[in-house]
Amino acid sequence: MARIVMKFGGTSMAGIERIRHVAGLVKREAERGNQVAVVVSAMAGETDRLVQLCREAASLYDPREYDVVVASGEQVTSGLLAITLQGMGLNARSYMGWQLPIRASGHAAALIDHIEAEVLERAFAAGGIAVIPGFQGVTELGDVATLGRGGSDTSAVALAVAMKADRCDIYTDVDGVYTTDPRIVPKARKLARITYEEMLELASVGAKVLQTRSVGLAMRYNMPLQVLSSFEDVPGTMIVADDAIEDRDMERNLITGIAYDKNEAMITLFGLPDESGTVAKIFGPLAEAGINVDVIVQSSPIEGQRSALTFTVPKASLDHCLDALARHKAEIGYDEIIHYTDVVKVSVVGVGMRSNPGVAAKMFQVLAERRINIFAISTSEIKVSVIIDMDYAELAVRVLHTAFGLDQEDAA
Ligand code: ASP
Ligand code: MG
Repeated sequence: MARIVMKFGGTSMAGIERIRHVAGLVKREAERGNQVAVVVSAMAGETDRLVQLCREAASLYDPREYDVVVASGEQVTSGLLAITLQGMGLNARSYMGWQLPIRASGHAAALIDHIEAEVLERAFAAGGIAVIPGFQGVTELGDVATLGRGGSDTSAVALAVAMKADRCDIYTDVDGVYTTDPRIVPKARKLARITYEEMLELASVGAKVLQTRSVGLAMRYNMPLQVLSSFEDVPGTMIVADDAIEDRDMERNLITGIAYDKNEAMITLFGLPDESGTVAKIFGPLAEAGINVDVIVQSSPIEGQRSALTFTVPKASLDHCLDALARHKAEIGYDEIIHYTDVVKVSVVGVGMRSNPGVAAKMFQVLAERRINIFAISTSEIKVSVIIDMDYAELAVRVLHTAFGLDQEDAA
């Protein structure tokens, strides 16, 4: 017997027909003798609709009331799934966030503090299936809180941790995690296994499969995650710890996937004073404005000359960033500032590069052969990223996918 959390996304819950199909999958898992808790999303499009209604009611809506409205989508689907399971003769019951409870702080993007597993333990002891609305919790004051868009994934992982589940299965409308966005590279391959860290780095590939927060949470508690389709009965992708991979996949590719991110803007400051404290004067105001900086490249000037600094920020923060830098121009002491929005960040990702040098060299070579100019570079232990012209996004992803042996036909 295993203890499993099954999470179903919005497309899997969109309508009674699909909910009935989901109920069949839950039934199958229960009939294998497993203890099952099901976490559900609202029907596809429902949360968007509810958010829009809040906006129409008042553009500066109260986050507490927003939560009251948007949490309702999951209340509907959890009740409907429980009814459907009961109709199939199963002992199923829904439990709202406040009934467990799922304790959370904040509104609209609340953080989960703690989940009581006692109610679930009692349900399991009685042979029951628990259905829990994703995306919601309850604050100290007893108010409903929601976890931010896509938050049902985080609900599912948090619940799996709280009830000491063996596994958390995320059923969605794609059948797993791919080596890159299959819409760009039709030869992209589904990965059988991937590490938490790689998954975090690949989160930007195509449609977001999982809320990033949920992967971080799973990694922290070493909770095995599985991404699989609720529409097709095929093996999905397991997301596991580093050591679970290295022992088993001796022949695993050096590179796991190619990611791209079109949501970053690049800023370059010219004519900076070459002295201690300059960089701190630039990033201090950005931190105060709550702006996330990603790639940072500083040129080291010849003794006594002025230097340049390039970095990237989310496009959505660009205006705030330029404003903060303009306000601090005098104290930073730069001559000129330029920004670019037509850029893309392309990354090659893989834990294999920890023990194998030459990945960056190969990446640069492949891009050079295509005459793709690199504006900035950043690296981590398991990733090399370059900032290039947006026009070359697709080409770069495709040639790197081929060069690192990820194309489908290369698969053994
Ligand atoms: N229904 C919520 C949303 O659309 C939460 C979720 O589905 O994960 O963001
Ligand atoms: Mg989702």
